[in-house]
Amino acid sequence: MSSARRRRRRRGPLKLNGMGERLHIKGHILTGPDEVLGQMWVDDGRITFTKPAGGDFRTLEGWVLPGFVDAHCHIGLDHRGLVPDEVAEEQALTDRNAGTLLARDAGVVNDTRWVQHREHLPRLIRAGRHIARSRRYFRNFAVEVEPDELVAAVREQARAGDGWVKLVGDWIERTEGDLTPSFPAEAVKRAVAAAHEEGARVTAHCFSEQSLDDMLDADIDCIEHATGMRHRHIDRFVEQDLPIVPTLINIDTFDDIAGSAEAKYPTYAAHMRDMHRRRHDTIAKAYEAGVRIFAGTDAGSSIAHGRIADELAELTRASLPAAAALDAATWSARRWLGAEAISEGASADVVICSGDPRADIRHAGSLKHVVLRGNVVR
Ligand SMILES: [Zn+2]
Repeated sequence: MSSARRRRRRRGPLKLNGMGERLHIKGHILTGPDEVLGQMWVDDGRITFTKPAGGDFRTLEGWVLPGFVDAHCHIGLDHRGLVPDEVAEEQALTDRNAGTLLARDAGVVNDTRWVQHREHLPRLIRAGRHIARSRRYFRNFAVEVEPDELVAAVREQARAGDGWVKLVGDWIERTEGDLTPSFPAEAVKRAVAAAHEEGARVTAHCFSEQSLDDMLDADIDCIEHATGMRHRHIDRFVEQDLPIVPTLINIDTFDDIAGSAEAKYPTYAAHMRDMHRRRHDTIAKAYEAGVRIFAGTDAGSSIAHGRIADELAELTRASLPAAAALDAATWSARRWLGAEAISEGASADVVICSGDPRADIRHAGSLKHVVLRGNVVR
């Protein structure tokens, strides 16, 4: 079998289709940020805009959006690391009930492809394990390697995941007492090229300014956090069409991280506080310049699951209009990940709000219904 066929087969479970209820959904069907239809039906788990023949339909009404995408989510982790599968399932249900119907995993410890075979759980795009420099990440989370082992580790995780590889791009270097890039720039370049050869995209955890230069040079596919984004980076992000997943509700914890590091690592603490202070401004400038932004919560780190609406609200605090914040978790996010949104024949994975979330983002946090694979799960 060719490697391309193997990759397609691995991505197969994302197309899982359940039977679901017969639904008539009416009100405001948002097929795009500015495109509104009056009604749709769900039959056999799929969306249709033509009324299917016969039978009873359950009617739901409201402002209908594609199910949210949490583009940075760790189903299977909590702040201490690996959790048992029963806990991971609870996490996935918590995310689902908050409207996250597609999660892009950003690194877990064990194999979570079982999630993809349970119809009642959100869809999941896995990334395998995080890849970090030795002793430069939380203990027991990542595959830890030295620069000369990086390419082999990337190839292995690319083959284990669903088309994404997660690097830890920077972390505190204790002898320097500050954030520094995890790997030399040349090693990152070789690693990204190897992932691309495997047909996978690469994303990296990057807090600091310096790591972003190396990731841009390596032609990486996505950046997580991006708190170190400065003027010199922004045009390059736009030119390279490189998206960011800011995880602002996680960045909000930087002051606490700084507080506990203060005594031993004052330079690092000051650096973290500075990036925390600038966080909304950093994202505002990126948005104004046209950098693509996607919503991610970092659930499974110090952040609890089920907080996608909090992240959307944070994006609006960073000056994104509510429709743009929603887009970061719906239409554009789904297009970016190759997932269906609201269209004829698409899987009925939608959330229903009681008011227009484009007018008030808080409606995204108090959903009336959640429909997954045609089943009303909330
Ligand atoms: Zn994370």
